[in-house]
Amino acid sequence: MDLAKLWSYMQSDMEADKFSNDMKSSANRRLLLKNADILKEQQARFAKIDEEIAAMLTRLDAQKAETERISKLFAQSMEEIGDVSKLDESEIEEKIKLVERLSATLDQCQKDLNRLAKDAENAEQTQNQIKRLAAKTKAEYDRVKKEYDIEFAQGKQKLKKLRDTADQLAAALDPNDLERYKQIKQHVTPPIARLENNQCTGCFMTLSVGTLRDIKSTGEGVTCDNCGRLLYLSD
Ligand SMILES: [Zn+2]
Repeated sequence: MDLAKLWSYMQSDMEADKFSNDMKSSANRRLLLKNADILKEQQARFAKIDEEIAAMLTRLDAQKAETERISKLFAQSMEEIGDVSKLDESEIEEKIKLVERLSATLDQCQKDLNRLAKDAENAEQTQNQIKRLAAKTKAEYDRVKKEYDIEFAQGKQKLKKLRDTADQLAAALDPNDLERYKQIKQHVTPPIARLENNQCTGCFMTLSVGTLRDIKSTGEGVTCDNCGRLLYLSD
């Protein structure tokens, strides 16, 4: 196992990884994702209010029809009272009571109508507010997107260069060494640590006597008891 070569490959590999992670967590990218989330949320709220308004309008139609019906009954009863000659006293009293009831119902209908109309109007105002906010969010998103697109294109180029360099170094490695490196990297990164003062510099644990003896005898391919990193005993 050529640990010196593997170590030098690791520097290049880690640099590329770090750059890739930095790109993913760039301020513009985070801002872009944040704005996309806000926009999605605003659109969802807008759509929900759309549904609520549709339901309100349906109720408003029903309420209008009901008001009209009561209004007709009221007019009819008024007409009947107008012609008192055909009615006896108790019938007149009954009719008056009916007219009063209808009048109260009609009042209530009108109030309900007004309330529904007001609710629908408020909902539309809220929708307009959301629309304005969403327009602002979209403008901000577009602005950041423009910047991020440039940043991303440049980053992608740089990342490719870093990856290419690492790949070139990887090509010069023993495939078994590279495989071992990759396996360890799946569990811990960076996958190789220097050994200093009998300590693994990856996790700072002091190594067991047995492990230290192994390193001194075989010298290579020994991993840390604690973190599993390959231990590199450099000069
Ligand atoms: Zn360790």
